[in-house]
Amino acid sequence: MDRNAIDLGRRSFLTGRYRTPPDRIRPPWSREASIAAACTGCGACVPACPQHIIALDPDGRPSLNFAAAECSFCGACAEACPEPVFDRTAAAFAHVAVIGSNCFAGRGIICQSCGDACPEAAIRFRPRLGGPALPELSADRCSGCGACAATCPASAVTMSVPRLEVAHG
Ligand code: SF4
Ligand code: SF4
Ligand code: SF4
Repeated sequence: MDRNAIDLGRRSFLTGRYRTPPDRIRPPWSREASIAAACTGCGACVPACPQHIIALDPDGRPSLNFAAAECSFCGACAEACPEPVFDRTAAAFAHVAVIGSNCFAGRGIICQSCGDACPEAAIRFRPRLGGPALPELSADRCSGCGACAATCPASAVTMSVPRLEVAHG
């Protein structure tokens, strides 16, 4: 785990409920195992995404990039896929957002961009003496959509997988 990473105000991260961010973020309703088992690398999901956040990785498998936009959960990627890669009965994502040490607020610069962008109200800001309010992320509310990562001017938000998900594959 990145030892410099801190999830401001979130004890669960600090007590080790989250592991290192995954190398690749797979499309919603897919998992590493289903990609490995069924994805042919046809690329049909790439142009299907209206948010333009899917690209094929060097192995020819789809990955998401939240740098510029979030997932709207429209389902177009799953509908475009001709193989049994997507399971729409499963949770869309196994990951949740984690706010790291680059966060402007933690470095004394006022910013609440991630909270403003979050459609689930999963990020709240706790006022404090002597500095800007710090973001607190509620994992229970987080859908993993990536809107906070897309908007953060400090590139401080990554996606991490709860250890429970890791333990169960
Ligand atoms: S659900 Fe829609 S927005 Fe999200 S990755 Fe799939 S096509 Fe793109
Ligand atoms: S948008 Fe980024 S820099 Fe701003 S408060 Fe949120 S995590 Fe910190
Ligand atoms: S990933 Fe989406 S739901 Fe989760 S905190 Fe970020 S904006 Fe909110």
